[in-house]
Amino acid sequence: MAIDEKLEPVMAEVMRRNPGETEFHQATREVLESLGVVLARHPDYAQDALLERICEPERQIIFRVPWVDDDGCVQINRGFRVEFNSALGPYKGGLRFHPSVSLGIVKFLGFEQTFKNALTGMPIGGGKGGSDFNPRGRSEGEIMRFCQSLMTELYRHIGEYTDVPAGDIGVGQREIGFMFGQYKRITNRYESGVLTGKGLRWGGSRVRREATGYGTTYFVQSMLATKGDSLEGKRVVVSGSGNVAVYTMEKVIQFGGKVVACSDSNGIVVDEDGIDLDLVKEIKEVRRERISTYKKLRKGNATYIEDGRIWTVPCDIAMPSATQNELNGADAKALIGNGCIAVGEGANMPTTPEAVRLFQKAGVLFAPGKASNAGGVATSALEMQQNASRDSWTFEQTEARLATIMAAIHDRCAETADDYGMPGNYVAGANIAGFIRVSEAMRALGV
Ligand code: GLU
Repeated sequence: MAIDEKLEPVMAEVMRRNPGETEFHQATREVLESLGVVLARHPDYAQDALLERICEPERQIIFRVPWVDDDGCVQINRGFRVEFNSALGPYKGGLRFHPSVSLGIVKFLGFEQTFKNALTGMPIGGGKGGSDFNPRGRSEGEIMRFCQSLMTELYRHIGEYTDVPAGDIGVGQREIGFMFGQYKRITNRYESGVLTGKGLRWGGSRVRREATGYGTTYFVQSMLATKGDSLEGKRVVVSGSGNVAVYTMEKVIQFGGKVVACSDSNGIVVDEDGIDLDLVKEIKEVRRERISTYKKLRKGNATYIEDGRIWTVPCDIAMPSATQNELNGADAKALIGNGCIAVGEGANMPTTPEAVRLFQKAGVLFAPGKASNAGGVATSALEMQQNASRDSWTFEQTEARLATIMAAIHDRCAETADDYGMPGNYVAGANIAGFIRVSEAMRALGV
């Protein structure tokens, strides 16, 4: 889809204000492409520079993060927090620690987060942050000192009613613990609701760890149900082997699917007997090793392919759960050629625009991450609810809430796509439904 001519100036302004930030351009273009039909029906949405405002973060914070490594040398990293939109609630979104983190990456993630959070129907605005710090090969002491230094600046910008960070790539419960400890030390407040993704003994929520992967799988199950189908007996390929991938695999297996491949940034594992999830958890969560260890420990005939392309492994369902732009046009052609019927994005923007177009043209069910992976942040909002009421819910209760939220997101996207004459187009449905919810709040709150 091309951008409507009324929206061209908005896109031009995004490019002028954010030079070289290609992922941010990609994310905004993809949303603006969906909005021409909304403006045709509701021209008033173009008033008061609403579109320009929605594409411009409310606040962007960049700071120095100095820390001392195990050799006693001072290291410097850069920290970011982009507070994108607070029309619906406090800024909410993860922190990513990865060498690829830059202002443009954080901005694209914050932009996506704003629409994603709106789709959950919960009272959360959009934000994102992180650092170009590379946790790979760092000791626990180094990770702790880095997290403490980051929080020594970040604490002044966040708060349970202001901005509530959580995890993302490279940031799990351990890192949230180090950051929460530092926040508590500096402020002298046990303000549980300031961060989500906490441990169960110190204010965390059951199901938060599982939520993104479980939610994505629920979403795929709902898409398949619209065709009278399900995950039962399906061959599934899940890229990545981090938190999102692991709990996607768990739910796929619970729904009767067979996961035949997973990966990390070094290589891919293919296991025709079905991936042994307990072994993946042992490698990633306990040993903190690379996925190549799988081949060494697995009895049977698993293969490990260094630098392999995971999307060449034949499957019915593809679930990209690693990182942005990990599935390109050539990958999409390979998947379509091998009979893939559905794609569910567990990561944020893992599919390139060309690949999305190819899937849609071929009639492959396609779930955009801002809808399908919203279960993580939705469960973060449930964690905030439990913190605010000083309560702690059971696993069953919390998972039931997650399942209801995911079903509602699916239906909201599907119904919106129908309403705008694009049945089955979840990309358009998610962008339009998210946009309408954020923009109505923005208009009500004035300029
Ligand atoms: N980083 C996750 C996401 O991309 C979760 C954010 C959160 O829980 O605040 O949605």
